[in-house]
Amino acid sequence: MRVEPSVALVMSHPCLACGACCAAFRVSFHWSEAEPALGGTVPRELTETFDAHRAVMRGTWARVPRCIALDAEVGRYSRCTIHERRPSTCREVMPSWENGAADPQCDRARRMHGLAPLTPADWPTARVVEDDAPA
Ligand code: SF4
Ligand code: SF4
Repeated sequence: MRVEPSVALVMSHPCLACGACCAAFRVSFHWSEAEPALGGTVPRELTETFDAHRAVMRGTWARVPRCIALDAEVGRYSRCTIHERRPSTCREVMPSWENGAADPQCDRARRMHGLAPLTPADWPTARVVEDDAPA
């Protein structure tokens, strides 16, 4: 019997076991991103005013920043509870080596939490897994 090989992902996305950048920096963005009348999608109740032009995610403007929308134990598991509605600032964060280059912000956030910077080896790779051969 011929057994078709299957493809398995051998690692999960590194951000799911991190969350450092959501607990490291002030996350500010134009206030209109939290204004539904202008097409904004960020939940306004999770933001506060920073200045005349910008809002910030609550918790990120603190001495020890941690976004109110973060569900994480940094370095173990991480989830953004408003992932589909997160601000542009968050969408622009690029995990190191996801696209072939290190990202200083990602590396710095991880170091702030005692985590080593990502390397290319941290990224999922598809590999062919041979199912059990028949007797
Ligand atoms: S610090 Fe880097 S690896 Fe960690 S959650 Fe942010 S982008 Fe992902
Ligand atoms: S909105 Fe989500 S992605 Fe952005 S800092 Fe907060 S938890 Fe992180």
